[in-house]
Amino acid sequence: MKKIISAFLAAAVFIAVLSSFSSCEKNEEKEYFDANFIAMDTAVTVRLARNSGKKDGRKIIYFNDAYLNEIKQNCADIAKEIEASLSRTIDGSIVSYINKETDCVLDIDGDFISLLNESLELSENTGGAFNITLGTLTELWNITGDTHRVPSAEEISDALSHTGNDKITVGASDVKKSDRKLKIDLGAIGKGYALEKITEYLESTDVLYGLVSFGGNVSVFGSKEIKGTKDEESQKYKIGITDPLDTSKVVGYVYIDSGYVSVSGDYERYFEENGIRYHHIFDPETGYPADSGLSSVAVICSDASTADALSTALFVMGYDKALDFYKSEKYDFEAVFTKKDGTTLLTSGLSESGMFEEYVEEPAEPANTD
Ligand code: AMP
Ligand code: MG
Repeated sequence: MKKIISAFLAAAVFIAVLSSFSSCEKNEEKEYFDANFIAMDTAVTVRLARNSGKKDGRKIIYFNDAYLNEIKQNCADIAKEIEASLSRTIDGSIVSYINKETDCVLDIDGDFISLLNESLELSENTGGAFNITLGTLTELWNITGDTHRVPSAEEISDALSHTGNDKITVGASDVKKSDRKLKIDLGAIGKGYALEKITEYLESTDVLYGLVSFGGNVSVFGSKEIKGTKDEESQKYKIGITDPLDTSKVVGYVYIDSGYVSVSGDYERYFEENGIRYHHIFDPETGYPADSGLSSVAVICSDASTADALSTALFVMGYDKALDFYKSEKYDFEAVFTKKDGTTLLTSGLSESGMFEEYVEEPAEPANTD
């Protein structure tokens, strides 16, 4: 029977790890070192395996907390550095320069240019459902800020008139805008991008395996094989997908031994007015929060920024279009969709693989009538 030894790591995604201590480990040793930090306005949890593998073919040795803390600190520094260039609100970020009323920004670093190109390609391939040029619109709604409100139709159409991939040209180290008012917003891909960089770094360290949870995005890295078990199931992590209708519950669990899971949901950031929920994922065609019939989408993919961008895009598309997109095989991914009525649907690859386990509520204990 699968045993869960750990459960909650982040608001959007629950993570549980299958139990698998080997007999040669000391009882007092905990399998994981857990640490948290805040980056990009979200809580990040890093879970690192303490054991460093078998030495001399016999003994397992353990990293000490100071060493693992240093690794966690390096992860936090990577996230901070990325935030400092991707944030819309941090003065001096590359995005803040691009978002000024200017027609050209020069001397942009190569990583940022690659991210922009990747974003524009994702936008093109998703038919514009994922759109990084919505900055004027997201700023107008300001969903998470103090000044959030439902804007007028005129304001929305004015904001939309300053969006569009055709108004931005990315060069080798510069960005040109044909509309000075256009603003970019990398909120739907930035956390996935940062998670990927952190995971790549962790893979380059001596830490054998672990996971990272970054505001609705989770990565699983390394290999648990060192623990000496041949049982494939015990190599897997159990990632709980939050139930958007009751965020204290899950709709089910995804089992993976590597890669990324990214969730976009209407419960993550929103405000309510006159009984209507205005959430943070916008339909680039209407300028209003996407009303596609979905409440959340989880994407499982071997690339983190793709997973992040696609979860947002599929949410905007709605189930039917998202399924057509899946069948087009433009990207290699699987997904879990939860509709507003609570129905949960899977892509065919996911249901066939048996990697998803639906959550079934335990029947209540019968009342004792003695
Ligand atoms: P996520 O939580 O990854 O789905 O990203 C949502 C964030 O991305 C929002 O807070 C906005 O900053 C931005 N965003 C909203 N709608 C879109 C969209 N259709 N395409 C790209 N970015 C978006
Ligand atoms: Mg996203």
